[in-house]
Amino acid sequence: MTNSNDPYSPSTWSEDTMGLCPSCLRQVPARIFADAGQIRIARSCPVHGDAGALIASDAAEYLRLRQYVPDRSGAKCCCGPGDSCGGGPPVCALLVEITQACNLRCPTCFADAHGHEYMSVDEVGRRLHAFFAKQPTLDVLMLSGGEPTIHPQFAEILALALAYPVQRILINTNGLRLVQSDTLLSTLAAHKQRVELSLSFSSFRADVHERFYGRDLRAGKELAVQRARETGLFVTLVPVIERGVNDDEIGDLYRFALSQENVNGLTFQPVMTAGRYEHDYDPNSRMTLTDIVTALEDQSNGALVRSDFVGLPCSHPDCCALTYGFLDAARTSIAPLPRYLDVARYMELFSDRMSFAGLIGGALRRIWSDMTHLRAAQTLRDLGSLYDVAGIRDVLPLIGRPREFGARVLRIVIKPFMDAYTYDRRRIEQCCTKIVDEDGRAISLCEYNVFRRGGAAALPKRGTIPLTVVSSEGDVVKGLDGRGAK
Ligand code: SF4
Ligand code: SF4
Repeated sequence: MTNSNDPYSPSTWSEDTMGLCPSCLRQVPARIFADAGQIRIARSCPVHGDAGALIASDAAEYLRLRQYVPDRSGAKCCCGPGDSCGGGPPVCALLVEITQACNLRCPTCFADAHGHEYMSVDEVGRRLHAFFAKQPTLDVLMLSGGEPTIHPQFAEILALALAYPVQRILINTNGLRLVQSDTLLSTLAAHKQRVELSLSFSSFRADVHERFYGRDLRAGKELAVQRARETGLFVTLVPVIERGVNDDEIGDLYRFALSQENVNGLTFQPVMTAGRYEHDYDPNSRMTLTDIVTALEDQSNGALVRSDFVGLPCSHPDCCALTYGFLDAARTSIAPLPRYLDVARYMELFSDRMSFAGLIGGALRRIWSDMTHLRAAQTLRDLGSLYDVAGIRDVLPLIGRPREFGARVLRIVIKPFMDAYTYDRRRIEQCCTKIVDEDGRAISLCEYNVFRRGGAAALPKRGTIPLTVVSSEGDVVKGLDGRGAK
């Protein structure tokens, strides 16, 4: 509920929701509100008292980004009033965590990876089968972990996943096996039309690597990008950003992404405490989405500005901001689409499928809802049309040449996952990024991270989560029992 005549006034805006007590994870009424130029959340637990957290450092920017997302109050549909997606928010991106094991033990790991257990191929199939019985198609399937590429049956699982009606499969990886294994690279490259890598890549400094990954992986990360390029695999770099640790490297990360012809995405994630986080964390000075937008403007020498970023229409407005940039042939300059096309105006017209503006709006909404993959044929067709409408004629010769076109587009995403401090029930209800559980149910990834990872130690027992696991030899050894299963 807003309390001003101007619904986006950065001085008076507020909204009521349900939050969590960070001590006991009890669900309690919460208020998100503008305060001295920032956006904060406050709630009170009957047992543990008041708690607050920073949601956005820049209230005006936070509220600007909200204006791109339709009001869905009362409509449990990702498209908002005027369109229909079948009675509930469909899943855009689905994670399957095929192992708890990892070849690293990062001090900052939202998956809380540990142990030596691997999901059986049959169990992966059972979960996917249950999911696809409820939703017929999926944009993006993420094979995740732990480190999915160390699974002894990774190739079989990938083949199984490719048999489902999934546009694109992302492998969430730390990159170590990409450097070590030619076999793995060949397996991935054989499916490069539908398979891409999502590579953790947070810094160019040794001390930051030690803090995030537990050791200096600088050479290995860059080699992983290079080896992916040599086999024709596209990569999205995923930097975790922490205030005072690597927020001064945001511009360098952007320039590195620009310099690598097989990097077509850059997804910044502000650090959060769900899962495993072994450092001090101050919820009142945490890194936020608007901090990263501001840093991109400050550190990109004017190549990017705040207004280049637009909220993601298919999830809650606080869940994501992104932009698409068309690159020159040398990948040294970027033309962010919102600078050439009035994204907000066209998006409002998306449900008018008869008019030209409505068609443009529909294409815009499709690509702006497509935050995890880029090279699907429809996405590229939409992008080509939009750049053409925007007057960027260099794009025309590339339409119909997906790999060359894909190499000229960089998608920059800011994705702030929630922890117990920032949990907002409305975001869970509108979530489109989910993880499949043992019953084939798709659960919000934030919900899963907060309630079912190791960091949720204070949570009362919620029953068992059976996870069939296999040994590294492939034998089924046991069913896991416990909240921390992944
Ligand atoms: S962050 Fe990734 S690489 Fe690091 S321990 Fe967790 S799963 Fe492994
Ligand atoms: S996973 Fe979290 S941040 Fe992403 S869409 Fe769902 S609720 Fe929002």
